[in-house]
Amino acid sequence: MDAFVITHAVIFTVDSRNWVIPDGYLHVDKGRIMSLGSMEGLKLPDDLPRIDFNGDALLPGLIDCHSHSSLMRGVTENLALMEWLPLYQREFRAMTAEDAKCAAQLVYLEALKSGTTCIMDMYRFMDQCGDAALELGIRANLAPYVADMPGKDFFSTVAENEALIESHHDAGGGRIKVWMGLEHLFYCSSGAYHNAVARAREYGIGIHTHACEQSAEEQAVTEHFGKRSIAQLEEYGVLGESTLLAHCVWLNDDEIKLLADTGTAVAHCPVSNAKLASGIARTPEMLEAGLRVGLGSDGNVCNNSLDLFEEMKFGSLIQKANRLDPTSMPAQTLLRMATIEGARALNLDREIGSLEVGKRADMIRVGLNTPNLAPILLDASGGNLLWNLVFSARGSDVHSAWVDGELLMENRRVTRIDEQKWLQQAQAGAQKLYERASQLDAPASMTN
Ligand SMILES: [Zn+2]
Repeated sequence: MDAFVITHAVIFTVDSRNWVIPDGYLHVDKGRIMSLGSMEGLKLPDDLPRIDFNGDALLPGLIDCHSHSSLMRGVTENLALMEWLPLYQREFRAMTAEDAKCAAQLVYLEALKSGTTCIMDMYRFMDQCGDAALELGIRANLAPYVADMPGKDFFSTVAENEALIESHHDAGGGRIKVWMGLEHLFYCSSGAYHNAVARAREYGIGIHTHACEQSAEEQAVTEHFGKRSIAQLEEYGVLGESTLLAHCVWLNDDEIKLLADTGTAVAHCPVSNAKLASGIARTPEMLEAGLRVGLGSDGNVCNNSLDLFEEMKFGSLIQKANRLDPTSMPAQTLLRMATIEGARALNLDREIGSLEVGKRADMIRVGLNTPNLAPILLDASGGNLLWNLVFSARGSDVHSAWVDGELLMENRRVTRIDEQKWLQQAQAGAQKLYERASQLDAPASMTN
């Protein structure tokens, strides 16, 4: 269905004015939004296929700016980051390309079914991840876990990253983007950073890496390099408008200013940061400084959910509780971070992130006829529905999802692939992987 019109939807455009249309229509043709507005202004031909939302909400598809495909969930619990990392690495040493495919299938399926239409994934064997995304139809940004320090050969190589650009960048009509990925300062040589900067420029692509996640990590970085993470990344020439840093929990004022001055973006992962006892990122200060800040789940292994509705709620509540300030991080801010700000962080905001004429039709329908979202008191700016969507909705309330105007999930059923088959493959793959991984010793700490 190339052209269709959605009718009788409560449309949250998340444009620059946060325009809400209480009873609206949205017209899609060839994957892009052609027009939208109030139902009274609808003047489209009657023979155009119509999807009557019957008062359900239409939002831009959610954007997960930092995730990791994985077959691990609920198996590395009650551990701090430094204790947890070696166990996580064991999965990498034991895994095969087939495991990567199963993991990406599982993760992208969970993401899409909870309303995420665009994901940034960092993993190994990412040609497999790219293929999984192409099969499901989700928009995916792939940043391999590149590590080139001795003993880290169980991650990805620079050569694999470069091959992935050739094989998958802009595949699926542009739905797949390949980035230069770098695991962490301890795992990558200066050459890997310099190469990433050169390749990013050459291909016009982004750079994605972890930074400044934990206090103990920051201390270890300072001891090893003689400077803090952000300063070291600056020295490597990595900071800039095409770079996205995950976490950034322990930024000081100068570092926030440096990221703002260089236009560097941040993927904020509040649930993962809380779960791994990393701390609470200074998100309000980052936003105040004008940083581009998107939301990230950090994947099933350290979250343990990919539901960005949870991430929005938690990202707001943790700041309110920590600052004893109920006005901190309101619903509108979180909805923007999960959509248009995420698109800005990924440099995709000209194409996606809001519902505006000319943009790609990446969008979700949230069913409102459910106890956890009632009652609804609508007004011209969304009334209580804005708060209900951010604080009361769940990923399972997402009824349908489109990418490029293509219906990828309808009434909770994914359209392109056999969901049960993918789940069975993930289950069987995980059991074999755990068995192989359990026979390996975990390295003792992050720095060795
Ligand atoms: Zn991560």
